[in-house]
Amino acid sequence: MEKSLTLLTVHAHPDDESSKGPATVAILTGRGIRSVLVTCTGGEEGDINNPAMDRPEVKENLSQIRRAELDAATKIIGYSKLYLLGYRDSGMPGVPANFHPDSFAQAPVEEAGDKLIGIIRREMPQVVVTYHEDQSGYPHPDHLKVHDISVYAFDRSGDSSYKPELGPPHQISKLYYTAWASQRTKMFHDKFIELGLESPFSQDRLNRPGNDEEITTRIDVRGYYKIRKDALLAHATQIDPTSNSWFGLPDSLSEDLWPYEDYILARSNVGETESFNGYETDLFAGISDHK
Ligand SMILES: [Zn+2]
Repeated sequence: MEKSLTLLTVHAHPDDESSKGPATVAILTGRGIRSVLVTCTGGEEGDINNPAMDRPEVKENLSQIRRAELDAATKIIGYSKLYLLGYRDSGMPGVPANFHPDSFAQAPVEEAGDKLIGIIRREMPQVVVTYHEDQSGYPHPDHLKVHDISVYAFDRSGDSSYKPELGPPHQISKLYYTAWASQRTKMFHDKFIELGLESPFSQDRLNRPGNDEEITTRIDVRGYYKIRKDALLAHATQIDPTSNSWFGLPDSLSEDLWPYEDYILARSNVGETESFNGYETDLFAGISDHK
């Protein structure tokens, strides 16, 4: 029997799945690959970034509303399955929510990592997407925790001696980090200036450290701009449709300017894969051709 292919992505908050790699998932889903989303927190500490949604009844029901937004986005992207790890959003560094006993930040890596291992052993993904350990550009404690539990799970899910009660061992083949190239922000900034528009990117934002030189894998997502945009807009409390930093340039121009989603291959058990112009172009390279 042909082994079925599965992608599993681990994200911190509802909306992260729509800002980091949604088109990649849509493309893989279109190829018949199952895609599983693990969202670690409910996003309870998120601000309401869209003035049109900044109403008392939205604030009071933020976690239910964000859950509905997440469901809508996962449908747009085409995820086959959603798991909620069930932790509370820890908020940005230095806020009291960091210390809430139910927060993701307070959860022991072993506890949250074991929940993830249970899901991995059940879903048997060949490829897992998570975050870089270097979150200095956006140091959200929940994003760091996503990294920590993903690496913990990568190292243990295939080990038959590790907690057999979590399911039969399953070795992940490739582990990727999502990457947001600094070059991309710079190109958008320059385009705003070139068109005589005010750039929404501050000098601080432009100076935000990136991991451009570590990018190994560049997915061409031309033709998927609408899915990327619609998935973001599904998070109506988080994404202002009039935001210039997201949507300040015409759609077709934005799509042409950077028609890629970038990744860093962090761990691999499949050996060297083919590259084009220095980049791998498929998260399942080395896997789908050998199934
Ligand atoms: Zn987040």
